[in-house]
Amino acid sequence: MSNITVKKTAHPFDKARLEALLNRRFFYAPAFEIYGGVAGLYDYGPPGSSLQSNIIAEWRKHFIVEEHMLELDTTIMTPAPVFETSGHVARFADWMVKDLKTGEVLRADHLVKNVLSARLASDQEARGLAAQPPKEDEKAKKKAKKDKAKAAPVQLPDAVVAEYQHVLAQLDNYSGPELGQLCRKHKITNPDTDNEVSEPQQFNLMFASSIGPTGQHPGYLRPETAQGHFLNFSRLLEFNNGRVPFASAQIGRSFRNEISPRAGLLRVREFTMAEIEHYVDPEDKRHARFGEVRDVELDLLDRHVQEAGSTQVTRMRVGDAVARGIIANETLGYFLARIYMFLTKIGINPARLRFRQHMGNEMAHYATDCWDAEIENSTGWTECVGCADRAAYDLSVHSAKTGHPLIVREALKEPIVTEKETAEFNKKTLGKTFGKDSAAIQTIIGEMDETQLLKLKGELAQGIATIVASDGREFKLTPDLLTIERKTFKQSIREYTPNVIEPSFGLGRILYTLLEHSFWSREQDVERGVLSLPAVVAPTKVLIVPLSAKEEFTPLVQEVSSKLRRAGVFSRVDDSNTSIGKRYARNDELGTPFGLTLDFASVQNRTMTLRERDTTGQLIGPIDDVIAVVTELVQGTIGWPEACERLPAYDGVQAVD
Ligand code: AMP
Repeated sequence: MSNITVKKTAHPFDKARLEALLNRRFFYAPAFEIYGGVAGLYDYGPPGSSLQSNIIAEWRKHFIVEEHMLELDTTIMTPAPVFETSGHVARFADWMVKDLKTGEVLRADHLVKNVLSARLASDQEARGLAAQPPKEDEKAKKKAKKDKAKAAPVQLPDAVVAEYQHVLAQLDNYSGPELGQLCRKHKITNPDTDNEVSEPQQFNLMFASSIGPTGQHPGYLRPETAQGHFLNFSRLLEFNNGRVPFASAQIGRSFRNEISPRAGLLRVREFTMAEIEHYVDPEDKRHARFGEVRDVELDLLDRHVQEAGSTQVTRMRVGDAVARGIIANETLGYFLARIYMFLTKIGINPARLRFRQHMGNEMAHYATDCWDAEIENSTGWTECVGCADRAAYDLSVHSAKTGHPLIVREALKEPIVTEKETAEFNKKTLGKTFGKDSAAIQTIIGEMDETQLLKLKGELAQGIATIVASDGREFKLTPDLLTIERKTFKQSIREYTPNVIEPSFGLGRILYTLLEHSFWSREQDVERGVLSLPAVVAPTKVLIVPLSAKEEFTPLVQEVSSKLRRAGVFSRVDDSNTSIGKRYARNDELGTPFGLTLDFASVQNRTMTLRERDTTGQLIGPIDDVIAVVTELVQGTIGWPEACERLPAYDGVQAVD
């Protein structure tokens, strides 16, 4: 129900206030806080947990139910050989540098980004182009003052500015040694100490463990849920009656030992992922429902634009992007559009959502093409969903390692009939004539193509044919040893390893950016914030507010609350001893979209008022009518303008106690 006209007059975004709200109302908090906490580990409190559950419920509907995906729940603890085979043991790593004096560890790409961005910001300030903090923003003022005290702004030569911008645009494309060169070339030091940093070294992000009492089975906590899907591929395929395409889906925890997690929920060491593995014929990556999303428009940032040093997005219909080869295939395009539809449905601002293609070096070891859904927030653009074409990589490597075929056997509608020259050996005579060399002779002939076999056939027809081994030895063959004939073959089964398109969602990142996009303050009440969460994900949908906790309200409160429960609408009662306005304000902070007020008039006339969070507009009507309207509002079948047509406006003075 977010209302743009209200937001225009709202107080500017204030991160410190949002963080204070999230902490005070226990959306989430550092885990093990009373023991001092551990960076990158967080606990979700009641509103945060409900918000996450509602996002997951909507995700299940939008993807699993809508697309008949096969849901999985596979184990987190994984034996080491799985990740040795998948390549994670060797390559699932980030580059880190150490402060040469203090030993502090920093992620190399983040260090380069932070230092160069700070220098560019200082340059902008020196040129008088820096964004001015909003007038009332005391915290920003203080910070600016502190920054000024630290260092006066420094203007850079134009060529240096251009170079920094170029580096930042393709930061994700640099290898470890290249990041090291950048540190040396641009004299990048640890910003906290000004000390030099070491050469970048790789750091594997997986948490190692061991399974069993004697530790004889090394294992890892999974860093993604994907391998659990791949290892079960043959069972999934059988469940799907042997048919491809289909998708499996899983929502579960993953673990990454991030080098220096500092960005709240955006970079944590344990997080919930929702991953889809869509299995598709490598020769046909069309998607049956592509027509439904062809016209969805996305802001695209392709790899060529980034490699040229720019971050300029192009708005394009998915259909056009696939037709022009910017997005590699229909299935990838289909999922990018569906990701966009999901994120905007739960309340992500579409103007702050872009799709960025990975550059060559940046791509994970398993991917052939990859696009990230990035959401803008107070820290910049953050990857919240990765969508990769993993090709046949994972299924092939696991199959080769275990000998268990992870393939599709497809009955061909029309058998493929082929004719080819075929050699047949008289093995007994061949053995007698050539002894142990007979195997080598069969191999040489077995590897011959059609032309070579025809030539051999011609020579045999003349009585004698000569073949030469790779070591130069010659063998003379006669028609009693082998015959070459043209034979017809009929192939009615096709075998192939499917390719995998993988949309991979980090729910914590989505949840946090959604909170930023939803947060604002009313001009008249800057202290308290409002979270304009859409009803579909809001932790509580309806707040029931009786004028007081007096007994005479109890039967009505119970009636309204049980009717809402029966309609499937999650509500809470706030009968605390404070003004109705304050109770609403407290629930605006929790993102509760609708409120129902019961006062003395309700007891007498069986009417109640309905309040909408963003506009604070109020309507009035008979209890059952209001319940019907609010149920539809929560289900999203009507919006506030329709509700205003169904019920008269309430312009009476807000009841006070
Ligand atoms: P990746 O497999 O690296 O593409 O990650 C898939 C998704 O997981 C990303 O799009 C993020 O949303 C999420 N993710 C990855 N690493 C983290 C992390 N350290 N903290 C929170 N979310 C993460």
